[in-house]
Amino acid sequence: MSKNQQLQQRKDAVFARGMGNMAAVYVDHAKNNEIWDVDGKRFIDFAAGIAVVNTGHSHPRIVAAVNEQLQRFSHTCAMVTPYESAVELAERLVKLAPGNSPKKAIFVTTGAEAVENAVKIARAHTKRSGVIAFNGGFHGRTNLAMGLTGKVAPYKAGFGPFPGEIYHLPYPNAYHGVTEEQSLKALDELFHCDIEPGRVAALIIEPVQGEGGFYPAPPSFLQKLRAICDQHGIVLVCDEIQTGFARTGKLFATEYAGIEPDLMTMAKGIAGGFPLSAVVGKADIMDAANPGGLGGTYAAFPLACAAGLEVLNIIEEEQLCDKALALGELMNKRLHALQAKYPHHIGQVRNLGAMVAMELVHNGDVDQPNPELTRAVVAKGIEKGVILLSCGVRGNVIRFLPALTSPLEVVSEGLDLLEQVLTEL
Ligand code: PLP
Repeated sequence: MSKNQQLQQRKDAVFARGMGNMAAVYVDHAKNNEIWDVDGKRFIDFAAGIAVVNTGHSHPRIVAAVNEQLQRFSHTCAMVTPYESAVELAERLVKLAPGNSPKKAIFVTTGAEAVENAVKIARAHTKRSGVIAFNGGFHGRTNLAMGLTGKVAPYKAGFGPFPGEIYHLPYPNAYHGVTEEQSLKALDELFHCDIEPGRVAALIIEPVQGEGGFYPAPPSFLQKLRAICDQHGIVLVCDEIQTGFARTGKLFATEYAGIEPDLMTMAKGIAGGFPLSAVVGKADIMDAANPGGLGGTYAAFPLACAAGLEVLNIIEEEQLCDKALALGELMNKRLHALQAKYPHHIGQVRNLGAMVAMELVHNGDVDQPNPELTRAVVAKGIEKGVILLSCGVRGNVIRFLPALTSPLEVVSEGLDLLEQVLTEL
């Protein structure tokens, strides 16, 4: 039995079923966009820890910054005795967030917590309770975040009840025939039938749906939401947890629409692999919550703040927005060539920067999703040495999230392996 298999047996014996793992690939070490498992096999990594290590595994500058921090202290709790790195990271993020309004930030630990805190802040500011979210959206696994999540299986099944006063709208999805007008009409109907706009605290949207299948919202839709939220005093929250930190070719995907959200949630790529998340938004809204009402024991964890500052330096100095665009272009081209070669299997290919997706279907028909084939391609990819991730409400999207520091030739090699998988189907 291989070491991977032994570890999987040990894991299955002690981990609850709810925390599954995609593959029995137990990591020994990882560098940039490559992973080596405990049996010595090398993998090209298209997952990047689910869009977390945008700066690659173990970037030497992040390793050095975290080591330096660890030598000084590991944890004091920023709510008890804070430190400069947290202040500096907040100073930099409020400057980098889109728009010119004065901004403030808070730090917590996970994406779901950032979402929960954004809703708390919006409710404290508006003194209203309703929250609008989108079908197919994903906002995390805590109770409120699950309530906001529109994608039901496997996240919500069996875990209810969820908090009330949450409403879902269709997400405009040009790839599957949901127009912007239909989404706006649904919002209008919601205001007339279910909840008056004056009772809505927040509207939360991913500028590109991530877990839902990598669908970018049309910029004009985000602009219209901005106007509607302004009209009714609703706090517009852009969830940039998967899209942020250069992933889409801009520091934040919302920049493509040229709007200023009231609040943004950030996590994943913010700290290059250390647990950190943030809510960044307009200062008057951010200040609505009572002192002590926000935060947590590990909020602004020092090692994560040290990493986060270095992530921002690396994004700028290594021009990771441009690299995301170049990676996206390369992958999009290659995947379109594969689509032309395997039109029966590949329905659609799309990308926004280095958030790249390929849908697998029956008979080349985009309306006949093929989740079985998707699972098979992911499994065979692992055998060949490429880490692929699936997503999508219909379970038929393979998403590609390479580290933005990935050498193009290693990415090409990963796509060669994918091609081999498709050839052998
Ligand atoms: N929001 C979005 C858009 C996400 O993609 C995710 C995670 O995939 C979350 C929230 C939840 O983040 P976390 O798993 O860190 O709680």
